[in-house]
Amino acid sequence: SDVGSQKERVVTEEEWLQKWEMGNIGFHKEEGHPLLQKYLDVLLNGRSGLRIFFPLCGKAVEMKWLADMGHSVVGVEISEQAVKEFFSEHSLPYCEEPVPEISGAKMFQSTSGNISLYCCSIYDLSSSIVGKFDGVWDRGALVAVNPCDRQRYASLMISLVEKNSSYLLVTVSYDPNKHKGTPFYVPESEIKTLFG
Ligand code: SAH
Repeated sequence: SDVGSQKERVVTEEEWLQKWEMGNIGFHKEEGHPLLQKYLDVLLNGRSGLRIFFPLCGKAVEMKWLADMGHSVVGVEISEQAVKEFFSEHSLPYCEEPVPEISGAKMFQSTSGNISLYCCSIYDLSSSIVGKFDGVWDRGALVAVNPCDRQRYASLMISLVEKNSSYLLVTVSYDPNKHKGTPFYVPESEIKTLFG
């Protein structure tokens, strides 16, 4: 597993915004992810009314699924276009307000109150702003983070979860010399080092 070829690669926030503008969003799954259905019980562990976090959320339809099941969903996404498309594609009315602790950030909240999407960089968040979560759906998130930021990302995620939380992580396995990412290849050994 030689990941040397991807170590130095950086995808800038500007490039992500451009992907959204160009509609270059092959990562978005209209039908939702089958692995969330498969492992839903692991995420919920018999609990109801959870706070569930979606890092680097895009316009993931799974946010709607979990909100419809009665959970409270919080996401973070740098593209305002993505956030607005999420609400409009599900015909969800929302309101928008500044986040006093983060300059330039906005929070978009469904009128029903159970979906809150922060439009800012995930690195601007902390548990004092968003609280702690009972569950995490990490798909297209760790694997989208620049390799040089992985440690920072993992430490932040650990600080955002409650003791008895469940963290579902989706990664991809392929030869990193044949594809430059994203999604990046994150070997299992590195995941163990990052999350313990
Ligand atoms: N998890 C989503 C989207 C995956 S693509 C899904 O499953 O469909 C990764 C997303 O992260 C993109 O929408 C990109 O705009 C966003 N992103 C990239 N860097 C970010 C950052 N630092 N903070 C918040 N969002 C970011």
